[in-house]
Amino acid sequence: MIFQQTIKSPVRFTGIGLHSGANVKVTVQPAAVNSGIRFIRTDINPMALFQASVNQIKDTRFATTIGTQAGTISTVEHLMAAFFSTGIDNAVVQIDGPEIPAMDGSAYPFIQYLKNTGLSRQHIEKKYINILKKIEITQDDKCIAIEPWDHFALDVEVDFKHPVISKQKISVDLMTPCLFEKQISKARTFGFFHEVDFLKKNGLARGGSLENAVVVGDDSILNPEGLRYPDEFARHKALDLVGDMYLLGHPIIGKITAYKSGHTMHQSLMEALKRDVSAWELITLSAIEDSETISSACL
Ligand SMILES: [Zn+2]
Repeated sequence: MIFQQTIKSPVRFTGIGLHSGANVKVTVQPAAVNSGIRFIRTDINPMALFQASVNQIKDTRFATTIGTQAGTISTVEHLMAAFFSTGIDNAVVQIDGPEIPAMDGSAYPFIQYLKNTGLSRQHIEKKYINILKKIEITQDDKCIAIEPWDHFALDVEVDFKHPVISKQKISVDLMTPCLFEKQISKARTFGFFHEVDFLKKNGLARGGSLENAVVVGDDSILNPEGLRYPDEFARHKALDLVGDMYLLGHPIIGKITAYKSGHTMHQSLMEALKRDVSAWELITLSAIEDSETISSACL
């Protein structure tokens, strides 16, 4: 049987928000079974508490922002991907500002913090969303689909018509969350140098730098260290997709195919799934052979 997990003890980290530029302190606390991932804005009085859920999405234009009228938290997707990767079902994230810190632009530093504090097995079985029928969303030239599969798998393609990026495609079989850590979690967020002025004038990318993002110039990568993977852009899109989809509250057993997709398309797919309850079922893996392998995080 596969059981739910939380962290053993609180873990703290600080950093700068990619868009807000705000320096924030984050504490992740252990949480009770079936409580899911919850966020608390501690700098708001009374403190704003909300579930990490597709129902709480407030904005998807440049990052995924969740919240209520009392307050929001933006750029939750990389931390959510880290919860997926470490197999954490229940946790409370306390933050004293409007945006999760960018760290190095990937999910990897969060995964290290969570693993270092240790995981705690809880007494109730973990649930998975098992996809039963194909759902496809098309918007202009963008497309995202989810279909039944015997594990979690992704096909992600980007197509920027830019000399440095152009087309990149990655297919990953995330038979275990550990494979996410190994193959996807270090891919950094990216932006185009020619957009930096526009973004900053609109209050975005204020905390962005070569320390926490890949910056793409007209004909080269501006980061002196270069890329972490030749197809880092497609891998980062896969990271965003995994983090956003974890706002459904459970890991998925199904295959997602995404072409030129982003946070808004991810939200549309999650809402379509929520509307069509015949497209999925909530299951535990106790009946499935090899369930220990499916659930294993990297040690
Ligand atoms: Zn991202």
